[in-house]
Amino acid sequence: MPAITVEDTLTLPRIAEPDPASTAARPVLSVTSAPSAFEGEGFPVRRAFAGIDSALLDPFVHMDQMGEVEYAPGEAKGTGWHPHRGFETVTYMIDGTFQHRDSIGGGGLITNGDTQWMTAGSGILHIERPPEELVASGGLFHGIQLWVNLAKAEKMTAPRYQDIGAGNVALLSTADGGALVRLIAGDLAGVAGPGATHSPMTMVHATVSRGAKLVLPWRRDFNALVYVLAGRGSAGESGQPIHSGQLAVFGEGDTIRVDADLTQESRSPDLDVLVLGGRPIREPVFAYGPFVMNTKDEIAQAFEDFHAGRLGTIPTG
Ligand code: MN
Repeated sequence: MPAITVEDTLTLPRIAEPDPASTAARPVLSVTSAPSAFEGEGFPVRRAFAGIDSALLDPFVHMDQMGEVEYAPGEAKGTGWHPHRGFETVTYMIDGTFQHRDSIGGGGLITNGDTQWMTAGSGILHIERPPEELVASGGLFHGIQLWVNLAKAEKMTAPRYQDIGAGNVALLSTADGGALVRLIAGDLAGVAGPGATHSPMTMVHATVSRGAKLVLPWRRDFNALVYVLAGRGSAGESGQPIHSGQLAVFGEGDTIRVDADLTQESRSPDLDVLVLGGRPIREPVFAYGPFVMNTKDEIAQAFEDFHAGRLGTIPTG
């Protein structure tokens, strides 16, 4: 799992272990397995949030783990041009390459640890696909796409595109150096990640060495979700077993804990987790297809605006 790595985690700034006497560990409310599905032109995904009460996910709406898949030559797939309105898409590529273009002139290649942050806001059209070279050669493809809701007051904000190179991600380690913590957005232990978000949130990709533990201070007003990208371990003080493709939802408290099992499969020697939290928006959500709005009428309006070309047009050339 390349993303971004360092030779020696002991050289990184450390996250001090929160004092258990004055902080409350967040309990694990549930552990669920993400069902497999296909997205766009038919690339394999796991629906990370399937079956979870939306109040526990808020401000997040949806998340797909894309792959992990090893494409044969000619097999790699993406999406056609499609619209979005009312939220932000965060695409984090761990292995492989995704190419993006949109109707506001944004776009580029994201690869091996890069993140692309697209605020759809009032409306955008975009296309996401593997570049032709990767389609021709085949190869490893693994990433995440997260949908972050926008509050009613920000749903019609101007669309925006941010490219966050892997080299800009803030790197930290745990007290004993047993985990590499990549901070992609938000604040953690006094360090700020590069992603600029409308809805306050924190996004971390952590690699926890076998037998090591990850304890993160977590804002009380944020929710807390841990999705396992690879490996085996346990979540919370109670040690609920978790493995690749599972989501742990945490309850209230100050800290999140995840432990990596001492024994791991050889194809994934560490426990890799995505840790997410944000301040719940607590507004009605009406999500349908590519739109995330507050009411059914606003969804109908989004379709009308899309068909009238008001969400943008496909660039020529
Ligand atoms: Mn899209």
